[in-house]
Amino acid sequence: MGDTLHAVTIIGSGPAGYTAAIYAARANLKPVVYAGGPALDEPARVPGGQLMITTDVENYPGFPSAVTGPELMERFKEQAERFGTVIHMENVMKVDLSKRPFTLTDESGRTVRTRTVIIATGASAKWLKVPGEADYTNRGVSACATCDGAFFKGEEVLVVGGGDTAMEEATYLSKIVKKVTVLHRRETFRASKIMQHRVLQNPKISVVWNVTVEEVLGDGKRMTGARVRNCKSGEETIIGAGGLFVAIGHQPNSKLFEDFLETTDTGYLKTVPGSTRTSLDGVFACGDVQDAIFRQAVTAAGTGCMAAIEAERFLVEHGE
Ligand code: NAP
Repeated sequence: MGDTLHAVTIIGSGPAGYTAAIYAARANLKPVVYAGGPALDEPARVPGGQLMITTDVENYPGFPSAVTGPELMERFKEQAERFGTVIHMENVMKVDLSKRPFTLTDESGRTVRTRTVIIATGASAKWLKVPGEADYTNRGVSACATCDGAFFKGEEVLVVGGGDTAMEEATYLSKIVKKVTVLHRRETFRASKIMQHRVLQNPKISVVWNVTVEEVLGDGKRMTGARVRNCKSGEETIIGAGGLFVAIGHQPNSKLFEDFLETTDTGYLKTVPGSTRTSLDGVFACGDVQDAIFRQAVTAAGTGCMAAIEAERFLVEHGE
């Protein structure tokens, strides 16, 4: 097996990973990106991150007439390649961060050694995993109101969840759509009081308590509503709606690193405030794997840039 020594290896190919690659490549560090492939436990996952499951991106600066998520990611990739980034369309299966240089093992069984690692593995939205949900994803079903809310102007939409994300999504959507109905499986929200208050006081938002979504319904082209079940009475009803926003949390893709790096109690990689440094020297984290709050393509790209600059400084300081 190969035993190459790289200066910078980037794991992940969303906006954070490719921005780190662009900066590291322009600093002549010859970065290698592990862009990922379909995950074994999540076959729908593709390289390029969450933007690959988004349609039009209207809030990425520099694209006044919008750009599709996949096209935006293709441009990131081309830009990284233009400056000499080597991209492997494979997952990293194992890491050993216990000593420097670090060791990574990929899906082909190849071992690479690297002086620095930039982790940009992102986060995955949790889905309900009910019939119809996958069929109507991007045709009514979404996990991101900031990304897709504007396509539901004047419509009635549903938001599932009772945490801060659900409150934030419902509040955001209420400024765009005709009516928002929050569906929650219990009779109290887990969200912070202030965010609950905003939802409960909003005349455009109503809440249906003690319900679970059993099925997303549609006409074959677009979603038309949801079949919900009251957890107490067992009674089932159909609620008509043009959109359903699943806001039941995100899962940071940090499992591979949890034996070596400090994480928050929700699994996000801990970074030093104002930096992308993790709890280990030479390992940097950027994008959604370390960000439970903003989770935007542009903030991910920003931290990707920071990670590359910090990796370069680390290499200089260590005479590498
Ligand atoms: P969360 O706090 O884990 O809440 C998830 C919600 O989804 C819960 O209400 C949960 O119900 C519900 N849920 C989970 N699985 C479900 C399923 N299969 N079917 C139906 N409902 C389900 O996640 P989050 O709201 O994404 O927040 C994550 C973290 O980020 C939190 O610490 C939050 O405070 C933080 N955050 C902060 C802000 C902010 O301050 N601006 C914004 C967003 C997020 P139960 O309540 O019954 O468990």
